[in-house]
Amino acid sequence: MSASAHGEGKSFTSLVADKGGRGEAPGAGLIEELVLANHILFREGVVDGFGHVSVRHDKRPDRFLLARNMAPALVGPDDILEFDFDGNPVNSNGRAVYIERFIHAEVFRARPDAMAVIHSHSPAVVPFSLVKSSPLRPICHMSGFLGEEVPNFEIRDHAGDSSDLLITNSRLGAALAKTLGGCNCALMRGHGSTIVGPSIREAVFRAVYTEVNARLQSEALRLGEPTYLTEGEARVSAANIASQINRAWDFWRMRAEGKL
Ligand code: MN
Repeated sequence: MSASAHGEGKSFTSLVADKGGRGEAPGAGLIEELVLANHILFREGVVDGFGHVSVRHDKRPDRFLLARNMAPALVGPDDILEFDFDGNPVNSNGRAVYIERFIHAEVFRARPDAMAVIHSHSPAVVPFSLVKSSPLRPICHMSGFLGEEVPNFEIRDHAGDSSDLLITNSRLGAALAKTLGGCNCALMRGHGSTIVGPSIREAVFRAVYTEVNARLQSEALRLGEPTYLTEGEARVSAANIASQINRAWDFWRMRAEGKL
């Protein structure tokens, strides 16, 4: 396909020249898993036309893989591009890239333990980014990975009161990564969330259950004051559920492939 065929929607994209220096190719299995993650996140209601998922390069820890600018449900293996931590694509061949790729770049830079990063606008989560008196907290045994409380990134502190709320450069990406700190999830006020995991599968699991937790917490708050998981309950339940993730992944895969 010609480069110009990928130039659609320029107001929401960046066309960036490749930095070059192509290194070792990532494993085919990694790309396959990343493509599937894109499809699962759509099917499970985490992303729609927007949102993205990335994985750290398996042979170059200073690089990551992320789709070109497109809806996650439509991503195929040929759409996966390689980026450095400054957000430069190394093999885009002129194809448009996500404007918010700096989220992934700076989180991978700041968090050597992060192997996958998911940014979404999943709808049940956004209200918790808006109401400071009602922070997102783990409410059931499936979402202990949220920890005691989820940090909330206020972009006004870094971009003033007239920004588009998007993470459009390395400076804003680094500020978001600082708010995330050592947590697994950070909310972004009026925007969405960013989630990390030690694998694609675990990051997808966390993204799905962050949205589930937000729905449950909103429902509980309508009834009264919820009883949240303690720090110990969150920690122990998160460790136990991590061993069960393939059970969910296998099911989500079938559903994303239209077999269920
Ligand atoms: Mn966004």
